[in-house]
Amino acid sequence: MAVVKSDAYGHGLIPVASELERIGVDGFAVADPQEGKTLREHEIQLPILVLGPCLKEEWEEVIEARLCPVISTFQEAQELAVLAQQRKQLVHVHLAIDTGMGREGLSGEAFFREWEKIRKLSWIRVAGLFSHFASSDSDPEATRHQWETFLMYRKKLGLPLGHIANSAAIGSNPAYGQDWARVGLALYGLSPFPSLQSRLRPVLSWKARISLFRWMPPGSPISYGGSYVVTCGERIATVTVGYGDGYPRALSNRAYVLVKGKRCPIRGRITMDELLIDISHIRSVRRGEVVTLLGKSQGEAILASDLAEMAGTIPYEILTGISLRIPRVYRNFSSLTCEFLPPMNSGASLSGCVLERVSKERGG
Ligand SMILES: *Cc1c(COP(=O)(O)O)cnc(C)c1O
Repeated sequence: MAVVKSDAYGHGLIPVASELERIGVDGFAVADPQEGKTLREHEIQLPILVLGPCLKEEWEEVIEARLCPVISTFQEAQELAVLAQQRKQLVHVHLAIDTGMGREGLSGEAFFREWEKIRKLSWIRVAGLFSHFASSDSDPEATRHQWETFLMYRKKLGLPLGHIANSAAIGSNPAYGQDWARVGLALYGLSPFPSLQSRLRPVLSWKARISLFRWMPPGSPISYGGSYVVTCGERIATVTVGYGDGYPRALSNRAYVLVKGKRCPIRGRITMDELLIDISHIRSVRRGEVVTLLGKSQGEAILASDLAEMAGTIPYEILTGISLRIPRVYRNFSSLTCEFLPPMNSGASLSGCVLERVSKERGG
């Protein structure tokens, strides 16, 4: 099952889901009914699991779009059953069980009490059992314990389908993905832990451009707060990306970008729409030069996990944080490679955006 929540981890929900449907996945998992509805509006026919939990006012959409919600309690099932009966539409649900994640589902006595009531509801059919690993990227022992607990419940319930595994789980032990696995990060070519990365190829690259460069003499403060001061003189370039585009401000003075395959350190604080880099060591840079924030540039590459580590976060947050202001461009789609390369005039269109925002603020 392809996990396409949060705009397919920032890659673009509809293009990614359409391609995955074409190449033959079994189904999709989304975070909420709105994402599921968007898939249906774009002719996606496969089963769609809503990882949920859903709000009461969202059941209508669940039924309308033929979505399969994950539920934890009798209360949710009953709310849904009332609507399902009115519509005369049987609704398939997956039942969550808490094996150690503590985010959804019940366990023990409480779980079985709810199960006994839920299974008696007409118009609701429990089609699968759901659970979620808490530490599949870091704690094999705890993961195996969750797995055994999951199998035990599954046997007692005799449900035809069960799923508990995410990318890290199937990466560490494929058996965890026995029936279905809910694969997100690995689908986009990124591993939740380093040892798996060599078997994966990142789908996305993220690029910006150099809009300006200047020679800055010794003693020049760079960007807000002057947190970086030029020592021996540097050629400083302005790059058309900032934290408003989802490039984390926490990377100020910490990360690097690639220009012509060479690492260029970020100087000073990252601002909303621009960041500054040192390009002193690069020959013949032109205005408009492509800057690689994520992905390959000649022999070098930056992974979302590299940026995440420098920013003190996880690759998931880097990917889902890329703003919708950045146009997505899809290349070689049959191999699911998508590149975030702004069009040639993006420097102009980006500053167009900024100008518009400034003039609106001033006007208001
Ligand atoms: C996001 C999510 C996944 C996918 O996790 P990855 O680590 O990206 O593979 C699977 N299951 C649930 C419940 C999720 O919320």
